[in-house]
Amino acid sequence: MKIRSVDEFEFIERIKGRLPKLKNAALGIGDDCAVLPYTQDKYLLATADMLIEGVHFDLSRVSMYKVGRKALAVSLSDIAAMGGVPKYCIVSVGVPQAMAAASLDDFYSGLLKLASDFSVELIGGDTNRSEIFICDVCVIGEVEKGFLARRDGAKTGDSIFVTGSLGGSIKGKQYDFIPRVREARTLVGSFKIHSMIDISDGLSLDLYHITDSSKVGAIIYDDCVPVSQNTDSKKEALSAGEDFELLFTAPSDITEEALSKKLGMPVKKIGEIVSKAEGVKIGKEKGRKAELKKRGFKHF
Ligand code: ADP
Ligand code: MG
Repeated sequence: MKIRSVDEFEFIERIKGRLPKLKNAALGIGDDCAVLPYTQDKYLLATADMLIEGVHFDLSRVSMYKVGRKALAVSLSDIAAMGGVPKYCIVSVGVPQAMAAASLDDFYSGLLKLASDFSVELIGGDTNRSEIFICDVCVIGEVEKGFLARRDGAKTGDSIFVTGSLGGSIKGKQYDFIPRVREARTLVGSFKIHSMIDISDGLSLDLYHITDSSKVGAIIYDDCVPVSQNTDSKKEALSAGEDFELLFTAPSDITEEALSKKLGMPVKKIGEIVSKAEGVKIGKEKGRKAELKKRGFKHF
C-alpha cells in the first residue's frame, strides 16, 4: 500500500495507535502542541513544523527571509492555540550545496527578527546536506495550568468564534501573518475558553478537529463567516487554509462585541456547538442547514 492512499490524519492515528500509554505527558499526539509536566502551576508546550521547498514554497516566488519568518511563525501559532507563551526554538535545516550563503543568512534574518519580536531564543538545531531546502522548527513554550486551551474541550451550547477574517492568504498573509500569541493570551486570561485551535488547514477541517476530539457537533452560520477582502469566495474562506487565525469555543453568554473590544480586533461569532448526534452543519442562521464538507489542506 502506498502512503498516498492513506489520509494524512489516519496516518498520524496509525502512529498514535502504536504507542504505549503516555507515562508522563499530559497530552501527546493530537493537539496543536504536546503538553508536558513542568512546574506546579505551569505546563511545558512543545510543537514542531516542517517546510519543504517545492511543497510549501517556491524560491523563485518568495524570498528566503519570508520562508525563515514563516518557519517560526507557524509554530508560534500552535503555541498561541494552546493559550501559551513561546520561549525557545530549535531550528534544523537541509541545505542544497549550491545554495548561496547569503540565502541562508536571509532565512535566519527572517526567523531571528520574528524570534526577537516574540522574545523567543534560538537554542540549537541540526544542519544537513539536501537536494532541496528543508527546514524544521521546534518551539517550546509554557502555559499556566488554568489557561491551557485544548481542542477537546468544546461543550454543547458553546458559541464558536473566529478572530480576523478568512481566505485569500495566498495573496501574502500566508507569509506575513502575525501569530496570534497576544490575542490568545488575552482570551485565556480574560474569558473561559473551552477549546481552541489555530486555522492552518482551513476553517472546515480545523473545526472538525475540535468537534471530533470534543465528541460534539456544530452548526456554522454561513452568512456570519468573515471573508477576507483578499478573496470574494466563501468556499475559499471555509477551506483554503493558512489563515493562522484562532478558532475557539466559549460559553454562550460571551459576546463577539466583548471579545472584539478586549482583543482590539474583530472577533466573529460563526456558530454554535451542538450534540454529536446533530452532526456538523452549515447554513444561514435562520435557514436550512447542510452537512459541512470536510474540505481543506491535507498532504495526502
Ligand atoms: P498543526 O496543523 O496544528 O501543526 P498537525 O496537523 O501538523 O498539527 O499535527 C496534528 C498532531 O499530530 C500534532 O499533535 C502533531 O504533533 C502530530 N503529528 C504530526 N505528524 C506526526 C508524526 N510524523 N509523528 C508523530 N506525531 C505527529
Ligand atoms: Mg495548529
